[in-house]
Amino acid sequence: MTELTVSENMVASVHYTGTLPESGEVFDSSEGREPLSFLVGHKQMIPGFEEEIMGAKVGDKKEFTLPSERAYGDRDEAAVQQIAREQFAQLEEEATLEVGMQLVAQGQEGPMPFIISELSDEMVTADFNHALAGQALTFNVEIVELREATGDEQAHGHAHGPDGQHHH
Ligand code: ZN
Repeated sequence: MTELTVSENMVASVHYTGTLPESGEVFDSSEGREPLSFLVGHKQMIPGFEEEIMGAKVGDKKEFTLPSERAYGDRDEAAVQQIAREQFAQLEEEATLEVGMQLVAQGQEGPMPFIISELSDEMVTADFNHALAGQALTFNVEIVELREATGDEQAHGHAHGPDGQHHH
């Protein structure tokens, strides 16, 4: 029997911790949670994450640092938009707008999260870039489980949980 490795159309379950290489700040971790399961080769993960663990086996541990172009990409200044503050009038009845606040706009293709990067009496500057865009990221990853994807998962382009039974 050949040993399974991380490769296309496998469902990989991993524990991971992501840190910012300069400050060491942890921005995301599966510690204390279920491992993260994803379908390999279907763009479920940032590109460099998959590339670095390709060929790994259960029990393997990897540490790597991705430049921004292999992670969440560079910042796009066109994704920073000015929105009239009056459009937030309803929200402002219940909440105080602040720089750094994360909000969600309803776009035509679904929810679009953004961060308020500047605020004036008339204007809200909304930054739709991913919070980690333009940043190098370090990951520590352990491969916890590997299995072949079911036909449904391959058709849907995503994993149905660690056991393949989670429908959605
Ligand atoms: Zn599905």
